Amino acid sequence: MEEFDIGIVGAGPGGYTAALHAANKGKSVVLFEKDEIGGVCLNKGCIPTKSILHSSEVYAQTINCTELGICTGEVKLDYSKVQERKTQVIEKLRKGIELALKNAKVKLIKEEAKIENENEISTKSEKYNCKKIICATGSSPRIIKGLEFDGEFILSSDDILNLQTLPKSILIVGSGAIGLEWARIMSNFGVQTTIIEMAQHLLPIADIEVSKRVERIFKTKKIPFYLNTSIKKIENKEVTLSNEEVLHPEKILVATGRIPNIIDNKVDGVKYIGDVTGQIQLAHFAIKEAIEETDLIPFRKDLTPSVIYGTPEIAWAGKREQDLEAGTFEKTTTLISALGKSLCDNETEGFIKLLTQDKKIIGVHIVSKEASSLLQQVLIAMQNDITIDKLKEVCFAHPTYSEGIFESLFKIN
Ligand SMILES: Cc1cc2nc3c(=O)[nH]c(=O)nc-3n(C[C@H](O)[C@H](O)[C@H](O)COP(=O)(O)OP(=O)(O)OC[C@H]3O[C@@H](n4cnc5c(N)ncnc54)[C@H](O)[C@@H]3O)c2cc1C
Repeated sequence: MEEFDIGIVGAGPGGYTAALHAANKGKSVVLFEKDEIGGVCLNKGCIPTKSILHSSEVYAQTINCTELGICTGEVKLDYSKVQERKTQVIEKLRKGIELALKNAKVKLIKEEAKIENENEISTKSEKYNCKKIICATGSSPRIIKGLEFDGEFILSSDDILNLQTLPKSILIVGSGAIGLEWARIMSNFGVQTTIIEMAQHLLPIADIEVSKRVERIFKTKKIPFYLNTSIKKIENKEVTLSNEEVLHPEKILVATGRIPNIIDNKVDGVKYIGDVTGQIQLAHFAIKEAIEETDLIPFRKDLTPSVIYGTPEIAWAGKREQDLEAGTFEKTTTLISALGKSLCDNETEGFIKLLTQDKKIIGVHIVSKEASSLLQQVLIAMQNDITIDKLKEVCFAHPTYSEGIFESLFKIN
């Protein structure tokens, strides 16, 4: 039986990061992957959706660019090229990871693996002895009764990535990150898009004011949505909602969450990281959990950032207003439309909201172009307990969206 310091099942962001970091620390590592290197993030998640989203945004901007003084001829969409580019992006990144694993001398076994006990992993043909085992097997789309995926009419987030042509209309079930990003993609491409959400607000995991702003943005973009609504039945492609309204979408995307891929049962002594833990199902969470394990660098799980991509971006970290007791915190909101850069860019939608306690930021909620990068600046301050007064000493460049953070600081008493 071959012996290794570390055996890792699953080569998504959690698994490959753990493999690379452990190997770079001189450990012998064996990594098992039954599908493609890169996991959901690279092959079916973050990267392909953001590649298609980018195409959709350029398309929508090009159609609407006369306001900026640019006149185009007829703008044509070739969705097969959008798909082709997405595949090229994935392949380029995958080659990079494969090369890094090879250079780090990680032994890669492209087979389904089973964790037999805390020191043994098996494939169909071999057994491997490992001093330590990390399970990073990820997650899969949740199947809802009555909304089982058929790959044709009722689609999962995996199925929708491989559509070769765009539908005329789509019903998106669920308004989390995946649902909202696909709603943006589809509507940018001119697909008639409708969202249904069981909760009281769109993006129910966000700060309440972010949810409300998202609703306003979707209304302005003429993307209809139903709140407190579910699907009652589907018959012959006719969808009856819980409010008895009947819709006839060409496709349905079900984006109602993901379930951990627990292989067999949880094994004591094995370290589980990333989506399989069923905690925070984000790539950077999986990556940080891997690094916590291999490099012993701890991280604040309660400060894991969330980002919804598209125009404008939506990003947050830390406490939400609805989680805090009235009178125990301060709140400041700066409108993005007040910033010179936003007017120059014609991207005035959104706000920067800071929640503070004792002159320290405990929550940040941003709806803005570049929100994903803006968030990171505030997060560094939060992680390091930097006070508002200390942050005021920082020089923020002009004109930028980050000036919105600077302005917010002076509104806090
Ligand atoms: C549409 C979509 C968009 C997303 N967008 C974002 C985003 O913008 N930002 C973000 O942070 N996150 C995003 N996510 C979530 C992100 O993809 C996951 O959080 C991340 O991939 C989790 O990484 P992981 O390593 O835990 O697992 P995974 O990436 O799921 O990888 C697990 C790997 O394990 C393999 N595996 C499973 N069982 C076995 C076995 N028995 N033997 C061998 N191999 C096995 C699987 O084949 C898979 O490759 C998105 C997800 C989806 C679906």
